[in-house]
Amino acid sequence: MQPSRLVLDRTALVANYRWHEARAGVPLAAAVKADGYGLGARPVVAALHAAGCRAFLVSTFAEADALGHPGEGASVLVLHGFTGEEEAPLAQRLPWVRPVLSTARQVARWAAAFPGRPADLMVDTGMNRLGLAPAEVAPACAAVAVAVVHSHLATADEPGHPLTERQLERFREVVAATPGAAHALANSAAIAAGPRFSFDLARPGLGLYGGRPHPASDSRPVLRLEARVLQLRTVPKGAPVGYGATWTAPRPSRIATINLGYADGVPRALAPHLSFGAGDRRCPVVGRISMDLMAVDVTEAEVSEGDWLVLEPDLARLSARSGLSQYELLTGLARRLPRTWR
Ligand SMILES: *Cc1c(COP(=O)(O)O)cnc(C)c1O
Repeated sequence: MQPSRLVLDRTALVANYRWHEARAGVPLAAAVKADGYGLGARPVVAALHAAGCRAFLVSTFAEADALGHPGEGASVLVLHGFTGEEEAPLAQRLPWVRPVLSTARQVARWAAAFPGRPADLMVDTGMNRLGLAPAEVAPACAAVAVAVVHSHLATADEPGHPLTERQLERFREVVAATPGAAHALANSAAIAAGPRFSFDLARPGLGLYGGRPHPASDSRPVLRLEARVLQLRTVPKGAPVGYGATWTAPRPSRIATINLGYADGVPRALAPHLSFGAGDRRCPVVGRISMDLMAVDVTEAEVSEGDWLVLEPDLARLSARSGLSQYELLTGLARRLPRTWR
């Protein structure tokens, strides 16, 4: 038996999918890049395909290859486009994949390698990350069969930010100039912000996994961490706990050491903000988080060696308190921990 694990809630994932679908009012392409934001792309895709999702976003052809076929009638969109010939064999082997082309060179290479095969376009409307300039869109549409024209918002999670309105305006001009294609702009935050960002297809990621990037977001937690008590000790008032002796017991205390640390993706900076559940008691983390261990003050709880302590991280709250983004917290978490879907 593993001494720590990540427990994932399929019902909550699907409920979050339904919330974004209803809020957007259009079909969704679910972002499952970075191995489903660290939760595991394959089980996420299986659950969302069963819920009706027919498009999935990954970063690279290698991620599309690792994912495999997402299920009947579904497409995989590769956000980093078709960058070179070395991807041609993968594109050949994965006919359900459409690259999201973001440069004129990618457009030319795709047109030459796969004449007539559909692709999507990414247009930069002000984020200055990936994307064609609006003026490059018409020539791209002449060269390839464009299914969806995308753009991406830089500040959708900051309500009232003027850049969002400027990007929306520029995207509307692109939409007017490309009547033959479908259009997509919204990430989770923009979906929460309202249907004027929806167009034909919306692209949630974080919100599906329990993140709440916008004040109007309403996602249920999808993951919790569970770790077993490796050792229990009673320490007297004034005793230090952990590296640096940064915490000393303010009273005689029961300290549980559990098998979870920063190498499991729980950053040291979170220590003051974390507490574990033991039965109906909340038990705070004390002292510094070690690589593979941390200490929990279980003085108020009934805990025995070998018991499981449970952490249901509230991503939005932890992000606000620690300064780490909800995306970093999620994608950092799951690398080493065994994952169990319920
Ligand atoms: C990752 C990504 C998304 C999903 O964004 P969230 O903020 O996680 O909802 C949508 N569109 C693009 C282009 C992305 O790269």
